[in-house]
Amino acid sequence: MILCPAFAFYQTDLAMLKLDHKKYKRPLIITSHPDDLEGFVGGLVYLLTHNVVSIVFAGGDRGVWDSTYEHLPLEEYIEIRKTESNAGGKVLGLGEILYMGYHDREIPVNETTIQQVLDQLERYQPDVVISFEFFRFSTPYPHPDHMAVAQIVRNAVARYGLDHTLDYYVCSTLFPNRFVDVSAVRRIKLDALACHATQNGLNAIIFPFFERLLSKLWGIYIGADYAEAYRKVYIPKLQKRLGIETKVEVTFSESERV
Ligand SMILES: [Zn+2]
Repeated sequence: MILCPAFAFYQTDLAMLKLDHKKYKRPLIITSHPDDLEGFVGGLVYLLTHNVVSIVFAGGDRGVWDSTYEHLPLEEYIEIRKTESNAGGKVLGLGEILYMGYHDREIPVNETTIQQVLDQLERYQPDVVISFEFFRFSTPYPHPDHMAVAQIVRNAVARYGLDHTLDYYVCSTLFPNRFVDVSAVRRIKLDALACHATQNGLNAIIFPFFERLLSKLWGIYIGADYAEAYRKVYIPKLQKRLGIETKVEVTFSESERV
């Protein structure tokens, strides 16, 4: 409990804390590396029974933890990581994976990448978008590529939300307000993650903490053995913070003029 600064806030109705995944029919998950989806949101993705689309920004080419792959050409290694990602996606029943083609640590947060995400939002018309926590001090794992994708998605969703209705959640957050019971599907999530054989060296180090400990901790909030935790972002507040005029404000100012 000391680990979680937000614990005191969660003395509220249990139903309010559960992420109602059954209502989503067009989920879009946007991450940085080929194994992020499995590791961070794998349980939820498996439970989202409708066609889930995954967008992966970078090739995972810096994630070399095994000497077997050290001397492989970069593009060849990226291909291996994509193959692992496709296998993991199959285990979770993913509908589609879209690779954006960036290299690790080279994901720019700029108008081009924001527009690329906006294009995909227009293409897939998601009713829910899930990506990384965008506040640096609110995540236990502020990897530069995760933070970059978080900022890109945050800006794209804020703009897209002016003309579309959707929900927006962030994962890898220390301040969750929604939880998903993944006790029954955790084995499948771990099976999907195990498809990423190139990452076994890293996962053996980070998983005892990031997966087991945190999912056990989040489970306490909803009375489950294991849970994934998300922060639901209130899009009008986000738009205000980013200086984007919300529809509500537009309507309000128009009615004021009348
Ligand atoms: Zn990652």
